[in-house]
Amino acid sequence: MSKYSFTFLILTIVLFSQCSTSTPDPATFNQPLTFEQAEYAIVIHGGAGTILKKNMTDDKEQQYMKALNDALDIGERILKNGGSSMDAVEQTIQSMENSPLFNAGKGAVFTNAGTNELDASFMEGKNLNAGAVGGVSTIKNPITAARAVMEKSDHVFLSGRGAETFAQDQSIEIVDPTYFYTQRRWDFLQQIKAEDANEQDITPDKKHGTVGCVALDKNGNLAAGTSTGGMTNKRWNRIGDSPIIGAGTYANNATCGVSCTGHGEYFIRYAVAHDISAMMEYKGVTVEEAGDFVINNKLVKAKGTGGAICLDRYGNVAMPFNTEGMYRGYAKPNKREVSIYKE
Ligand code: ASP
Repeated sequence: MSKYSFTFLILTIVLFSQCSTSTPDPATFNQPLTFEQAEYAIVIHGGAGTILKKNMTDDKEQQYMKALNDALDIGERILKNGGSSMDAVEQTIQSMENSPLFNAGKGAVFTNAGTNELDASFMEGKNLNAGAVGGVSTIKNPITAARAVMEKSDHVFLSGRGAETFAQDQSIEIVDPTYFYTQRRWDFLQQIKAEDANEQDITPDKKHGTVGCVALDKNGNLAAGTSTGGMTNKRWNRIGDSPIIGAGTYANNATCGVSCTGHGEYFIRYAVAHDISAMMEYKGVTVEEAGDFVINNKLVKAKGTGGAICLDRYGNVAMPFNTEGMYRGYAKPNKREVSIYKE
């Protein structure tokens, strides 16, 4: 072989190997349009954990079912009338924050110090804009503050006093910290503390709960939000996954919107919300397959308890959870489902 043909051969090999190993643009991984497009869709959760029918009175069950249906009504009305998924998410979550039933806003759990520290996050699927607040004690609706961080600041995540000052500057409703006191949550803190003192083994999924919403509007835009009081008896200004973009909340119009609930430390380590979206983006799987794999396979292996609500850009819903129950529901044109237990 001449010197020239040898050089040509080497060049050809190098060029060919570069072509075959270069990373394709992730946008080309998007699924083909194989689903019917829903006009709009909304999905909510009110926390996952040890929720058993045998521990629930009929009255309590009805209260939860009503609160979930009321929340869906608010979001569905906005979407049906052509409103944005962001308004639907914010107002739906506000209604759950205002209910003492859920561990968010008014019904937030207590910290070890007997205070309430709230976290929330918000994400817009159109442009991956996001906002969050962590460890706030005076903002009545943390979800509204999270959205304001996204829309009215240069930042993504504000915490503590700074987040409260920002909210006040934005004329977001501020309340006295005693607003968040509920007898039920206070009694539960005492119970958990007593069990801790007796070195009883407390399953983490008794301590949590959270609210979340994902919506798809008539313009094809997804939005997701999550709001929580965190975990009962938390210490040292602990912050969980709920205000962390990619862990507790994620939204991308190219894939799906996700809001998580569960033992936050695991959801942070496994970047659960983003992982579900990434599986769809990189592997082309459905929202159901992605949600099920991350919650019921990866997290279960890691011993992380909880669940997620997921909604893709066609309006397909997935609500996987690996606990006894998850307060959950969804609505689309002519379709609604609300449930609590594992069926
Ligand atoms: N994920 C929340 C946290 O760890 C709690 C929950 O969802 O129940 O703070």
